[in-house]
Amino acid sequence: MRGTANVALSAIKVLLLAAFMLGINPLLRERVADIGVQPALLVFLAVWVLAGVALLALAFLAGPLARTCWSVLLFCAATMHLAHVGITGRPLGLLDFEQLLGLAGFAGNLAGFHAGPILSAMAWSLLGVVAINMPPFLLRDHPSHGWRKWTRYAPGVLQCVPVLAIATVVHARGGEGSNGMPGQYTAPAFAFVLGLEQAAAPPPEPRRAVTLAAEGLASPLRHIALVVDESVHGGFLDLNSDRGVDTGLRSASGTVSNFGIASSIANCSTTSNAGLRFGIGRDDYLRDLQRHPSIWQYARRAGYRTVYIDAQRHGGRLQNLMTPEEARDIDAFVQLDSATPVDQRDIQAGQRLREALSRTEPSFILVNKMGCHFPYEGKYPARQAPHSPTMARTYFGNEGDPDIALARIDGDRERMLNSYRNCLQWNTRQFFDQVLPSLPLDDVLIVYTADHGQNFHEPGEPHRQTHCTIGPADPDEGTVPLATITGHPGLAVQLAQAAKRNHGRASQFSLHPTLLWLMGFPRHQLTTDRGFEPDLLSPLDADGQRFLSTFFVRFGRAPVWNSIRPDASQASGSAMSASASVGTDAGTDAGTDAATR
Ligand SMILES: [Zn+2]
Repeated sequence: MRGTANVALSAIKVLLLAAFMLGINPLLRERVADIGVQPALLVFLAVWVLAGVALLALAFLAGPLARTCWSVLLFCAATMHLAHVGITGRPLGLLDFEQLLGLAGFAGNLAGFHAGPILSAMAWSLLGVVAINMPPFLLRDHPSHGWRKWTRYAPGVLQCVPVLAIATVVHARGGEGSNGMPGQYTAPAFAFVLGLEQAAAPPPEPRRAVTLAAEGLASPLRHIALVVDESVHGGFLDLNSDRGVDTGLRSASGTVSNFGIASSIANCSTTSNAGLRFGIGRDDYLRDLQRHPSIWQYARRAGYRTVYIDAQRHGGRLQNLMTPEEARDIDAFVQLDSATPVDQRDIQAGQRLREALSRTEPSFILVNKMGCHFPYEGKYPARQAPHSPTMARTYFGNEGDPDIALARIDGDRERMLNSYRNCLQWNTRQFFDQVLPSLPLDDVLIVYTADHGQNFHEPGEPHRQTHCTIGPADPDEGTVPLATITGHPGLAVQLAQAAKRNHGRASQFSLHPTLLWLMGFPRHQLTTDRGFEPDLLSPLDADGQRFLSTFFVRFGRAPVWNSIRPDASQASGSAMSASASVGTDAGTDAGTDAATR
């Protein structure tokens, strides 16, 4: 009687375990079809067999301690994985995992915004915990001596085998290859790989001091401001399109030099902004990020007071890879009150910039505008909607980017575009209306650009992220505006000529040396052999309009560069074809998916 009950319970347990495995890996069938019949499929299936055996051993043979510990670990890993699938449509990868670790502080926001997929992921994962911990347990009494006593640890230790197998694939594939692997074991594998990498990493290079010479204020400019907008696609502005939204910059036409559509440094806020502040070059950008002096250090050396206006965060929270060490070189750190509504933040940021530009003391000012990070609704007043119909106004928080890197788009494309245009118009027009009217521009220069563009995907496209795509990215993600505003007679002429020559050819990599020159550092010292990119006055080649998508590369992988010119993206460099050619073994990376679309 007891035997029959045990068999029935065992059958239920096995069924629940199978449901758990399949439930948390909804992309498995798609992935197997993707790989097709080839040797790589054997590696893939072997990992799955290992995972199945390990899970059965844990559920039927492990002692209470191993069961409890691994239940907790597998619950967390499976939830992370499945929630990521639910939110982004992609399995959790190494870079996603690392990004999520970095976002741990925003977990509350993430959870609130994506409650549905997260709850559903927790429910499936809980099913696994129940299955593992329900009777029967086919434990045998372990002999207390000899080698056999060690067998009691086997089921627990066995869990490390699929983890190590996935970690090996991920390491061999330069951080990729985990797509479609059993999701309950991928996060521990990522943690293992990252831990190893951390342990083996050489100590970071110390940041260098400014070595360029500057004596006193050599620049004729009293104030230099770099205004970095948020998620602004350059093609949506009146600067670059007759149908573009009214930015308020056309009325300042005599002083504006428009470089047209430019390419951003990267397709994500963090990397683009950090790249701008540390003047990274194209050749060795990861080391540049570590060792270059910050723009604040250059500005101070040139005799400027440094001002940072961050319209996005509050309470001293640092963002975009800024460390307390970097912030020590900022003389005035301005953030807005946390209660400031998101549709008022750029107005207030404009007022703060105006105040800074009105001081007699020379200053370098960096502004991170509120701009138009998804969700767009709430970032302009409901009555200020020249474009309609719009998306439903469902978000009313005061966080600029509550979903941070996981920005994705859903629903009606036309409504979304209308919401985006309304947001752009409100936040650029209002900002410049605070800054520009009757401002003497003779000794003031403002550079206007954005951290990255925005991809609105044609209907039916599978990838739904608006930016921050890892792997080859759509040109729209790196398409940004670039214009300068100054009334200084000599500089205005020089910049107008440069803008004419380089219209539609510029890249944000040219901004850093241009700013240093404007600060008064001798232009002949800002040469390529000293590690500087060509500035905006140099003859630029449109082929250089490329942005980074896979930024933090490792294990010898090449970064992914993307042209912002759709016609050039087919042949946009070796990195793209390289990532496509390695996508043939056990795991397709995001790169191959995108390269083939
Ligand atoms: Zn951004």
